[in-house]
Amino acid sequence: MQIINDQSCSWINDLEPRKKYKSLKNDETCDFIIIGAGYTGLSAARSLAKINPDKKIIIVDAQLAGEGASGRNSGYLVDTTLNEGFASTKDLSVYQNKTKLYQTGISTVKKYIEEHQVDCDWNECGKYYASSDLNDLKILENFSKILKIQNIEHKILQSNELEKLLGTSFYKVGLYTSSGVLLHPGKLARSMIKTLPINVELFENTQLLNWLEQNDKIICNFESYKIESKKIIFCTNGFLSSLGIKQRYNFPISLSASTTRILNKNELDIMGNPSEWGVLSVKPMGATVRLTKDKRITIRNTAEINNSFSMNADELEKRKQFHLKGLKKRFPFLPNDIIEHTWSGIACRSANGAQIFDQLSNNVYVAGCFNGAGIGLGTLFGEQIALKASNFNSSEMELIESQLKPSWLPPQPFLNLGIKAKLIFERYKAKSEI
Ligand SMILES: Cc1cc2nc3c(=O)[nH]c(=O)nc-3n(C[C@H](O)[C@H](O)[C@H](O)COP(=O)(O)OP(=O)(O)OC[C@H]3O[C@@H](n4cnc5c(N)ncnc54)[C@H](O)[C@@H]3O)c2cc1C
Repeated sequence: MQIINDQSCSWINDLEPRKKYKSLKNDETCDFIIIGAGYTGLSAARSLAKINPDKKIIIVDAQLAGEGASGRNSGYLVDTTLNEGFASTKDLSVYQNKTKLYQTGISTVKKYIEEHQVDCDWNECGKYYASSDLNDLKILENFSKILKIQNIEHKILQSNELEKLLGTSFYKVGLYTSSGVLLHPGKLARSMIKTLPINVELFENTQLLNWLEQNDKIICNFESYKIESKKIIFCTNGFLSSLGIKQRYNFPISLSASTTRILNKNELDIMGNPSEWGVLSVKPMGATVRLTKDKRITIRNTAEINNSFSMNADELEKRKQFHLKGLKKRFPFLPNDIIEHTWSGIACRSANGAQIFDQLSNNVYVAGCFNGAGIGLGTLFGEQIALKASNFNSSEMELIESQLKPSWLPPQPFLNLGIKAKLIFERYKAKSEI
């Protein structure tokens, strides 16, 4: 496995380049070591430091902190998800419990940004599920029933309303929920680095190669040095299985996205000058499209099983053409050279959409597998795994622990074959929505 820093992501390029960062240059000892400095690891570090002000906490990342999936996602802080369906009362109670979890994730991020006065382009503008296929109205009507039972404010929208709101006539039917939030993922991740307490030491470009539990110690081996810790918390999300953590319950998935340049006045006029919006697809493999606060359009319409952890320039160019196709379907007046940035990132999935929050042995903890909803859940799970590792409890932890557990996955090569077949099938079903 090789994790590299790259300059392809517009969210990260919006930020001041990092000047001061440390890599591991000596052997170290600590009370807690956290592996992975995305939303989950950084939240775990912040929370651990608060609970244990006199303990030494180390957090390491194989690349620059916050520049993995956390700095390069689509920035939807989701309140609900559509693609899980339900067929019985039991499923409905599972769905309700999950919605409660997403909403707790939103309030955890909100509390954090208010406490630290973080500017991350926070916009409580809600989100849309939309489709160009009128047959999808049935799905949205069923979804509306579930939302009604939970008193979640929402509205089904027809083509003309969507066109006015989004500036495209592509979508024929949609559903709006008002409690979703859009934000700048890079700014949020960067703020979590800046707000790390002083008893946390961050080592970047420092990749954990292997580790072992020896008596009451954890020994972590890096390229030239080692860190000895009393406890370890794994927060590596899409890289959990590559580190041998919960391998039969989670798998990585590669996503790719593109951003246009800032749209000009003429282009915005054609769209009717809409305000910032975010659209998720009704079908699982359809495109996620967003008009940002500064009037760029981002699109993500691929999800694949990819052996490498970062796509090379040729692979990204192919994805870019696919993104352009998705953009032109929705905004045919945009020129062919409108895309400015294309990048890939690694997310983590389980077979049944469940997350991982676990104590693996006396001194080993893990939080991850957020199935594409890691902004809220990563922040929440990070804070809560820190409490768990410090032997505390909370109502949020009880909520997390009352969720479904990830279901078992078949061994390789059957796993990858199965996922590939499912992705091909879903892509076929969503071909009009790409
Ligand atoms: C293109 C894209 C779009 C997405 N859109 C959304 C969205 O709109 N909303 C949403 O909620 N979620 C979205 N997600 C998912 C979301 O980004 C993740 O769920 C979230 O960032 C997970 O945070 P994390 O801290 O757990 O993991 P990450 O941010 O992946 O952090 C894990 C870190 O671990 C490090 N690491 C891995 N292995 C090692 C090692 N051996 N040693 C040291 N460090 C290691 C990695 O370098 C990485 O920085 C998207 C993801 C992608 C890729």
